[in-house]
Amino acid sequence: MALHKGPEKPDERPLSVNPFYGEANPVGGMTEAPPKHRMPDGPISPSTAYQVVHDELMLDGNSRLNLATFVTTWMEPQAGVLMAECRDKNMIDKDEYPRTAELERRCVAMLADLWNAPDPSAAVGCSTTGSSEACMLAGMALKRRWSKRNPKPGARPNLVMGINVQVCWEKFCNFWEVEARLVPMEGERYHLDPQAAADLCDENTIGVVGILGSTFDGSYEPIADLCAALDALQERSGLDIPVHVDGASGAMVAPFLDPDLVWDFRLPRVASINTSGHKYGLVYPGVGWALWRDKEALPEELVFRVNYLGGDMPTFALNFSRPGAQVVAQYYTLLRLGREGYRAVQQSTRDVAMAVAEKVESLGDFRLLTRGDQLPVFAFTTAPEVTAYDVFDVSRRLRENGWLVPAYTFPPNREDLSVIRVVCRNGFSEDLAALFVEDLTRLLPELRKQSGPAIRDKGAATGFHH
Ligand SMILES: *Cc1c(COP(=O)(O)O)cnc(C)c1O
Repeated sequence: MALHKGPEKPDERPLSVNPFYGEANPVGGMTEAPPKHRMPDGPISPSTAYQVVHDELMLDGNSRLNLATFVTTWMEPQAGVLMAECRDKNMIDKDEYPRTAELERRCVAMLADLWNAPDPSAAVGCSTTGSSEACMLAGMALKRRWSKRNPKPGARPNLVMGINVQVCWEKFCNFWEVEARLVPMEGERYHLDPQAAADLCDENTIGVVGILGSTFDGSYEPIADLCAALDALQERSGLDIPVHVDGASGAMVAPFLDPDLVWDFRLPRVASINTSGHKYGLVYPGVGWALWRDKEALPEELVFRVNYLGGDMPTFALNFSRPGAQVVAQYYTLLRLGREGYRAVQQSTRDVAMAVAEKVESLGDFRLLTRGDQLPVFAFTTAPEVTAYDVFDVSRRLRENGWLVPAYTFPPNREDLSVIRVVCRNGFSEDLAALFVEDLTRLLPELRKQSGPAIRDKGAATGFHH
């Protein structure tokens, strides 16, 4: 959430409201628009309020053309109906809404099975508002486990991860006072290197985060190799470092499209996994999931039991109240698609991603960093001989056609590299993809005529969010 300030200056003069919206009633109807920066003195009619808010929102982008976000922007109408039916349900009232709580439990059980927990009945997990909250919870469990095995006063805990981690891990380290030990990018390696990660570990390392896959370019980090490097470290030094897999996107892609890739609870070192139900889990925002392999991986003292809503349900969460509709929608989607349905949806998204990546490459001006064959996401940069324009120009010009595609620079040690990232999602159909390639192709002759990259303030040019 942006941290907002109050108004710079108060509303100067009242604006008029469209007479229709004011119900075209010169007697009781409204003629002046309500103030924007303080509460109006009295109520206005629901239809006027609706029109005023609705009109203001018209200037938001079209979410289906947003190729910057990983978050679900289309669900079928039945899911919408179900969510509307559940919008009054508070997830925390487990006793009042026992069936919603039961659906949450079933989702956890399905994910434990999907992620190959050796004993799904021993796995524990919960829904969250998204992966960020799930990562906070998983990080807290790692930190608590470390402080129990290493109670030396004054020791400072650290967490090892690639520099390409999503911002939620920087938040975790900042909020919970854990040192972030980051493996930099090197050459053509745009994510964590297993040996470099193991080399950063010591007796105060609470865990290592592996990402499936990286928000920067959609690549899967080598989770099995990471575990092997940590196995070797344990043999040498006795240090037993758990791994958390941040599967915000990939934990709902790899099980269906890459069943032979071993990244999940099949690896004994993997203590916990998170995913965003609202990314490739195919549910509207905001729902996420956090699962631990077993009770040992989630220290009991972090679990709260409240009885004042009735019942005595154990919970692990940052929020108290939270909407139940998204959890219901997650259950609906798991039930509706099944494994074969998820496979088909993710495969068609990957097919689109790979086809668009190939077309972009064939234009000749660009070099692909990834090809959409892991996450259905690809990143590309301008070819070395292209000097008339850069990726920031491409991003800005695509915006003229309604496409939101972020351009951004990479972190150390590849700050020299600027890329564009295209995130393909369910709903970015072959038709839309063809239009995207057409628009990009049409821009190139103009871009090639530029005398050089046009955008100075790179950060402001493109609204990039990991
Ligand atoms: C999106 C993302 C997150 C944050 O997830 P939210 O559900 O948006 O809170 C964390 N890690 C990775 C790898 C991501 O892609």
